[in-house]
Amino acid sequence: MGDDAAVVQAARVSYGGGAKSPKEDAKLINYLMRHRHTSPFEMCEIKLHIKAPIFIARQWLRHRTASVNEVSARYSNVAADMYIPAEENVRAQSPHNKQGGGVYIPTLLAQDFIRNAKQIGEAAFFQYDEYCALGVSRELARISLPQNTYTEWYWKIDLHNLLHFLKLRSAEGAQWEIRQYAEAIETIVEDWVPVTYAAWVDQVRDAVTFSKSAVEAIRCVLADHDYETRMEAELSRVGVGAREEREVLEALEMDR
Ligand SMILES: Cc1cc2nc3c(=O)[nH]c(=O)nc-3n(C[C@H](O)[C@H](O)[C@H](O)COP(=O)(O)OP(=O)(O)OC[C@H]3O[C@@H](n4cnc5c(N)ncnc54)[C@H](O)[C@@H]3O)c2cc1C
Repeated sequence: MGDDAAVVQAARVSYGGGAKSPKEDAKLINYLMRHRHTSPFEMCEIKLHIKAPIFIARQWLRHRTASVNEVSARYSNVAADMYIPAEENVRAQSPHNKQGGGVYIPTLLAQDFIRNAKQIGEAAFFQYDEYCALGVSRELARISLPQNTYTEWYWKIDLHNLLHFLKLRSAEGAQWEIRQYAEAIETIVEDWVPVTYAAWVDQVRDAVTFSKSAVEAIRCVLADHDYETRMEAELSRVGVGAREEREVLEALEMDR
């Protein structure tokens, strides 16, 4: 539901106006994104049918600002459908990030890991099917199924909260597997609301925030040199509009 025009329409309601020229609408969307004026983005909604392994679903469903309906493993039998990583995606533990995977793992270890994951999964599903056939309830028979078993759900979310999800889950620090979903959803968002997507990439996804202390240090360095003219030229070169340029110069205290 909704599109870039719906965002603009909602933002302009206070002035009784709708869409203006595409250039002005794009400027408005960029401004809304920059100033975290978020409610106009809630005018757009999307519903997706997701299939993911349970360990990814657990991360995904921590995002509370969506409506979810998931398949019930109490109601229906769980299909023997498991995620097994490709050999190149069996990652070593990162030496820097306790929560993350690194890059390199010896091939033999990766192959061994995959072989074992398949065997354990097959044995678990064999046991599951056996106990279901013997009359054990599905809600209990499932307890030995592995975390890489696939689950499915419908997911409905507004654009504001979807972009928040994408910011967190397409970032470097997110697990590789959930990043693949986030990147796929990004392509859908880019097709659906191209102007909003471009503004989000510019103002949120690829933007960086600094602490008050870091900003103080940056201001000090810039104050020591006459960088104002250079900064104005560079901001204009990368396509920053006049209003945003003023905001940047003010934030860096270069507007004196
Ligand atoms: C890389 C990474 C590592 C993580 N590691 C862990 C971990 O080790 N353990 C763990 O438990 N979680 C972990 N999380 C989950 C994380 O803490 C969040 O729960 C998750 O990302 C959802 O974010 P959210 O609350 O902003 O999103 P949503 O639930 O979609 O909420 C969106 C926004 O709505 C507001 N909001 C929603 N509900 C409430 C509420 N009840 N009260 C106040 N404000 C609310 C908040 O402003 C929130 O940012 C991790 C997430 C990431 C991305």
